[in-house]
Amino acid sequence: MENVIRAVDAESPVRKYVAVGDRLLSINRNRILDVLDYKFYAYDRDLHLVLAKPDGREYRLHVRKPEGGDLGLDFESYLMDRPRSCANNCVFCFIDQLPKGMRPTMYFKDDDARLSFLLGNYITLTNLSEREIERIIGLHVSPVNVSVHTMNPELRVRMLRNRRAGESIGTMKRLAEAGIVMNCQIVCCPGWNDGEELDYSMRELAALWPAVHSVSIVPVGLTRYRDGLAPLTAFTPEHAAETLDQVTAFGDECIRKYGSRIFFCGDELYLTAGREFPPDEFYEEYTQLENGIGMLRLLETEFGSALRLSEDPGRQRCSIATGQAAAPWMRMLADRAMALYPDLEIQIRPIVNEFFGRRITVAGLITGGDLIRQLRGQELGDRLLISQNMLRRQEMDFLDDVTLEQAETALGLPIIPVESDGFVLWDAICGRVPSPPGQRSGCGVDSAGAAGPAPGRDPEYYLYNQNRKPASEAEQRRTEGREPWQDRS
Ligand code: SF4
Repeated sequence: MENVIRAVDAESPVRKYVAVGDRLLSINRNRILDVLDYKFYAYDRDLHLVLAKPDGREYRLHVRKPEGGDLGLDFESYLMDRPRSCANNCVFCFIDQLPKGMRPTMYFKDDDARLSFLLGNYITLTNLSEREIERIIGLHVSPVNVSVHTMNPELRVRMLRNRRAGESIGTMKRLAEAGIVMNCQIVCCPGWNDGEELDYSMRELAALWPAVHSVSIVPVGLTRYRDGLAPLTAFTPEHAAETLDQVTAFGDECIRKYGSRIFFCGDELYLTAGREFPPDEFYEEYTQLENGIGMLRLLETEFGSALRLSEDPGRQRCSIATGQAAAPWMRMLADRAMALYPDLEIQIRPIVNEFFGRRITVAGLITGGDLIRQLRGQELGDRLLISQNMLRRQEMDFLDDVTLEQAETALGLPIIPVESDGFVLWDAICGRVPSPPGQRSGCGVDSAGAAGPAPGRDPEYYLYNQNRKPASEAEQRRTEGREPWQDRS
């Protein structure tokens, strides 16, 4: 009964006729099975709705509203259906590497095409039915975010440990032929899909340009909970540097051929290799910012602008807790600010990830427990800045269930979650506190490799209707949160 109406917006054109508890059955004779059906078929100006009362009595309504105007119905669940879990058992799956005892939602492996369209989740395409493929093509749902990992069908079967995983490369080709835009990601695992395999995948994906609009190459994340799992190794600085050179050279060729670089490495690879980030123009439209692609370059650019525009903030003392990978880079930003304004005192506090293991160095996976254990009793200044991405979206707790309030009490100072925006970071350093996390979008101070909607991005991440207005704030609030790592399908 997922199509049961939970609320009717005050501005809804049907507010006088539809009651909470009624069910929406069809729009213009199209059965409404999930949120995509609802959003697509409710777009038109003239709508014939068939609804049912809780006792089963059906009734009909004719609605005239502005084209694209919101029908204003809210359902029991956002998807109007159960979220679909994945059919894979990937060798690199982060969820398999979680410690026991975390809250059950942490272990849910979503691979739901509808969440890709609506929230930007990456999907493997391995569990799509023919009806769903036809619906994507028929409704021209675009862009789709695809976890590709490799274009070699046999290797894809082995990496995703799904005997049908190779077939979805054919699905990608079908979508490309139908003009569906795809933003892709490759979770790169040394010894599996790197080197020549990566070259092969890049060639195959580039051949699908412009349907394949961008491809991110992000390094595999390895926690300390890998007993009994496939043997995987982390990137060394040398291998990260080689991979950067390989992808950059291929991207240079793509610019000559297609006018776009298409392939971009995740910020983590630059940090691992100890390389400078490329300049702004390298990242073109920053298409995969939310996937940790160019996030730190953009943050630095914004921070530099904020410094140039700012007046002397006077005496300010704060600390910034961050992952080990980005700590040197954050220190460079802090030094630049302190050189300009000598009364500033900014300390960078790299946090070792004891919870997931020391190989996890990104800020977005730091837990409240590690933060407290490593910073308790230290002189941190007047406030502690953390990546907003350390907190579960729309909530005020860390991945280990420690709340922000508990961490503040334990450390004895205010903790300010900061999104990945150089201006916001500078404001937070200056003591201008950003709005609470639940009211902001975007990612953390240095959330290299962490995920989430890009700053300001409308989570209604689908374009089958180019004229669709951005989702209302109320609609955004309704969207279900996902954990930072759950994007790496
Ligand atoms: S990585 Fe994604 S697709 Fe693969 S098993 Fe984990 S949740 Fe499923």
